[in-house]
Amino acid sequence: MLGITSIERPLPIRNLIHGQWVNSPSQTRYEILSPYHGRTLASVPESTKEEIEAALAAAESAFVLWRRTPIKERCQLLFKFRELALAQQHDIAVLASAESGKTVDEALQGLLKGLEVTEFALSLQNLDCGGHMEVSRGVTCTLKREPLGVVVGVGPFNFPAMVPLWMYPIALALGNTFILKPSEKAALTSQRMGELMVAAGFPAGTFSIINGKADAVEQLITDDRVKAVGFVGSTPAARSVYQKASHLGKKALCLGGAKNHVLLVPDADPAIAVPGVIGSFTGCAGQRCMAASVLIAVGQVDHIIKALIAKSSELQCGVHIGAIIDRPSLQRIEGIIDRSVAQGAKLILDGRKPVVTDELRQGNWLAPTILDNALPTMECSQAEIFGPVLTIIRVKTLSEAMKIEAASPYGNATSIFTTSGANAQYVADHATSGMIGINVGVPVPREPFSFGGTKQSKFGSGDITGVSSLDFWSNLKKMTAKWSFSGDKNWMG
Ligand code: NAD
Repeated sequence: MLGITSIERPLPIRNLIHGQWVNSPSQTRYEILSPYHGRTLASVPESTKEEIEAALAAAESAFVLWRRTPIKERCQLLFKFRELALAQQHDIAVLASAESGKTVDEALQGLLKGLEVTEFALSLQNLDCGGHMEVSRGVTCTLKREPLGVVVGVGPFNFPAMVPLWMYPIALALGNTFILKPSEKAALTSQRMGELMVAAGFPAGTFSIINGKADAVEQLITDDRVKAVGFVGSTPAARSVYQKASHLGKKALCLGGAKNHVLLVPDADPAIAVPGVIGSFTGCAGQRCMAASVLIAVGQVDHIIKALIAKSSELQCGVHIGAIIDRPSLQRIEGIIDRSVAQGAKLILDGRKPVVTDELRQGNWLAPTILDNALPTMECSQAEIFGPVLTIIRVKTLSEAMKIEAASPYGNATSIFTTSGANAQYVADHATSGMIGINVGVPVPREPFSFGGTKQSKFGSGDITGVSSLDFWSNLKKMTAKWSFSGDKNWMG
């Protein structure tokens, strides 16, 4: 099902500043066009410098009381937010589907995964109690987590609910105030989530939304009041944001693009491998940083590839598979397919110009597409395609496969489909990416296990969710105290 009927006329996108929804005076606007039928869904402002300044000032002033609010009280508001989001989950999923092109089911899964991070944030009130120990006679050390101040999160278009939810629940639970800059291609969902944050009772300035593109990000991340920047998007933008923010001495954790490898070996169980690979490369129309993009066929696996082609060709655009975000992205993908064929890859499933209903004719559609016999040097093997396109590279051994994986500049996910524990262990031990799948096509860790890749899929240390995100969104304060002065002999002297 597609979130197609929900928006009859363009919705205004507003900024959330000091707890108020503000119509931007900006003359620069970006239209959100439906990936399904090309009609305008919303108009997004490039926020003015004054609006961004107002949001920063509000966030800084709100921090004074918010940091002093006990974590259990902060979490009560997050509980309320989660309840509201669950109650409205279908509407939110329809909105996220409408603007991002994914199906409603996919959008709902994204929202629920984001709310799982909210649940993780809620657990901090009971589990993250710091530490206390008598380290020497009469001397105690105490560990206390403290918020950073104003922090910023920048999101991509492809998970308009989930990716921001990776960031603001944890950052807010820890006592920071948060400014979200959503994708200008999918800002409606963030606006809806912002309405829920206001309804949940978050005080003015604790959670703000500033719309726009790179200019808005630049002003936010270079401002002295901003102490940390979480970013999720393409690698060039992630690298640039990381370099600018960390150069200014801020904490920065910037997740970039990906090119994920899935290894298929002759002992793989076709009943698991075929749906696993198809779900991974066609889910969210391939617009997922965890999508399988390169299938490395190790040895003779033609029987499985044959089944992959047959099952993939049954998927219909607009029914089982969503749309590509916009026309330039679709044209870019088609260009990569054309050039890869010219370079010698064999197009064994061509999803270009699929049949769709009249209503969807102006949408950006690409059915599952498979390129076989690709070389590791070809564009289809190297570029992040971000569409339902699977590139097959043929090799003879697992070690050859792992050399290709290791040479990739990206490092989000690597999976293997196998019934052999030895093969699985070999891949788990040798893979260079951050998230490994064994008979799992989309190896996204569930909370509290952190989400995060390596190499050019992530700039910065730590991960964006789970346990390892805590040290990113906070500082650890260490106190050493001595109250006994009765001539004791200890290392404090
Ligand atoms: P994008 O890089 O075009 O935009 C992401 C965000 O950055 C948007 O809010 C945009 O306005 C802003 N932005 C763009 N250029 C910028 C610049 N030069 N400086 C500062 N901000 C800038 O990405 P997208 O097309 O929205 O999303 C798709 C990309 O995101 C893919 O590469 C995908 O792999 C990646 N992604 C990665 C993860 C991950 O966890 N690693 C998750 C989701 C998406």
